Amino acid sequence: MKKRVLTGYRPTGKLHLGHLHGNLHTMLELQEEFECFFFIADWHALTTDYADTKNLKDFTKEMVIDWLAIGLDPKKSVIYRQSDVPEIAELALYLSMLTPIAWLERNPTYKEQLKELKKKEIATHGFIGYPVLQAADILSVHADFVPVGEDQLPHLELTREIARRFNHFYGDYLKEPSAKLSRAKRVPGMDGRKMSKSYSNAIYLDDDDATIEKKVMKMITDEKKIRIDDPGRPEICNVFELHRIYSPDKVEEIEKRCRSGELGCVEDKKELAKKIIASLATFRKRKEEITSDPSLYDDVLTDGAVKARKVITETLQTVRKKMNID
Ligand code: SF4
Repeated sequence: MKKRVLTGYRPTGKLHLGHLHGNLHTMLELQEEFECFFFIADWHALTTDYADTKNLKDFTKEMVIDWLAIGLDPKKSVIYRQSDVPEIAELALYLSMLTPIAWLERNPTYKEQLKELKKKEIATHGFIGYPVLQAADILSVHADFVPVGEDQLPHLELTREIARRFNHFYGDYLKEPSAKLSRAKRVPGMDGRKMSKSYSNAIYLDDDDATIEKKVMKMITDEKKIRIDDPGRPEICNVFELHRIYSPDKVEEIEKRCRSGELGCVEDKKELAKKIIASLATFRKRKEEITSDPSLYDDVLTDGAVKARKVITETLQTVRKKMNID
């Protein structure tokens, strides 16, 4: 029996290189080794974007198509949309009954997001309660592992605590998931901060060649390297950081030529842009093929919902029985 892994993505916008070298590559590796449940977390998208849902369906569709184009395989993994499985919401309701509010209030992301997303009114029941929904996502499929970054460990611990509390009241049943620490690479955006839609510094998988080149040319490098023959400091250069991902066999050479002043930033950026564009060729071709088959998207989600519901309905039946509401 393969161990089970669950991970999901909020459909809140287009995917960029940060996503690709972060979770998406991890998901590709995971699907070869584990029984994977990959879900589009559209209910989670509502926790911050409940007031404007006009793009939700489009973002969901595009995310599924991008996943398939990247190589996630519905024959190997269960790919589903959260809202197609209402049993998850039912489990979240039961778990919310036994989750102390203090556990949710101490969630560091909750406090951080309240500060960061000041323009949105997110002091809502749905937002403070999203870790309970997350717990329902994970516990409903009895996931053995959840891929997380170090910063998400407190969330997973909360899921484990909720599972323990349920098991304490109603008898051992829910499985405490373990963390699978992600080896995701840090991808700098054009301004050097972590690539993110909210910083407007991202290169998107859908950007055309000219846009990619333009964005790379705008990247911040070593501000002290003004003329071509000024020696540069690759260790503080964002272009160099991306070369580590896109030109692993050339990193030493680039470093040497940059330090000696033999390599200019314009030439180097053009080279990087070419590498990024070339790396997206297969993705673009697959995306075109997938988009040209209008029924594929519906088929993948319909099939995924059936498979996910089979597992999750069984979980719910046992949960109801244990709580004497069957
Ligand atoms: S030559 Fe390349 S690595 Fe060196 S500072 Fe310029 S962009 Fe960065």
